[in-house]
Amino acid sequence: MKPFAAAVTLIAALVPAVPAGTATVQGPPAGPGPVQAPGPGKAPGSGHEPGVRRLASARDCPPAGARLRSRDTDPHGTHDDGHGHGHDHGHGGDRAHEKVREGGRNDLTPAEAHSVERELQSILAGLGLGKPGAPQPGAAQPGAAQPDPQAARRKAPRVTVPVYFHVLHDGPTGNLSNDDIRRQIQSLNDAHGGKGAGADTGFAFALHGVTRTDNATWYGDPERHEQTFKTKLRKGGAGTLNLYSADMGEAMLGWSTFPWSYRANPKMDGVIIHPESMPHGSIENFNLGHTATHEIGHWLGLYHTFQDGCAGDGDRVADTPAERDPTNGCPADKDTCPAVGADPVHNYMDYAFDDCMNQFTKGQGDRMHLVWTAYRR
Ligand SMILES: [Zn+2]
Repeated sequence: MKPFAAAVTLIAALVPAVPAGTATVQGPPAGPGPVQAPGPGKAPGSGHEPGVRRLASARDCPPAGARLRSRDTDPHGTHDDGHGHGHDHGHGGDRAHEKVREGGRNDLTPAEAHSVERELQSILAGLGLGKPGAPQPGAAQPGAAQPDPQAARRKAPRVTVPVYFHVLHDGPTGNLSNDDIRRQIQSLNDAHGGKGAGADTGFAFALHGVTRTDNATWYGDPERHEQTFKTKLRKGGAGTLNLYSADMGEAMLGWSTFPWSYRANPKMDGVIIHPESMPHGSIENFNLGHTATHEIGHWLGLYHTFQDGCAGDGDRVADTPAERDPTNGCPADKDTCPAVGADPVHNYMDYAFDDCMNQFTKGQGDRMHLVWTAYRR
């Protein structure tokens, strides 16, 4: 396993002091940023044990199956708005072996997902994108208008999302090069463009700007300082993707907000990823950039493929078979639910290794378009 320090040194060597190239937007001036006090509701120490989540220590003694996305509850208790503040982060002690990659902020209970779906269907019906039909599982009312899965996509088949990439770093550590960022955007576009085994979702991503903030505090504990740096750095409106990179420590690779949380908390909208999860990163099995692909799937309104497990309404996408639990690694024959279809272990919205992930489905693309129309257009 590649020592983290070596990886950092390598990156430092590759990153010019003054990034050259196409960064079109410069953020806060270079130099040490202010040390920020924890944001409201995030008392020092809440949900954190300094040193515990360091990636380096995770490498030294990785829990079995580490870097799966976690389903832990929000340690801050500040994001439970019932509509799923889309988050993936952290691990929970002995639960780390089971789920690590995200940390649970992107997991919704069946009741939370049901609530989200009721609101989504109501909005879509109001936009004329519902259609009469038999109630589907999880439908708000028998006979209620159901969203036409194709309607939004027919109206706007292709959506190009402007992206601002906010590099948080600690001196040379984490100071990604513009090439690193370009590779991440390319990986994202390949995933959505149907490269590999997947469907073309109709979404594409265009880098509009890069900001760089040298702030060891923000870089080293993005969970605690999330509200502070997002408030200062976020650009654009509901349809602008703000992608932040920072070291969230041991076993944690990223998290996202969901589209339905934008209106109540627009500044918090966005995705945070570990810089070493990006293409050419140093996190073994999770360094092809699909942490970002997965998190941005949440940002576009997708649930995990294991949402609701075998029962319930699943991920509300018809062409992703139900699965009982997150996938670890890349099992060939995982089939955990009695319903038809093997587990979608290759889907970007599962938890498999990056090199196992190669597809969004057409149904997921349709859902992205519906949710986009309802919340981000
Ligand atoms: Zn997730």
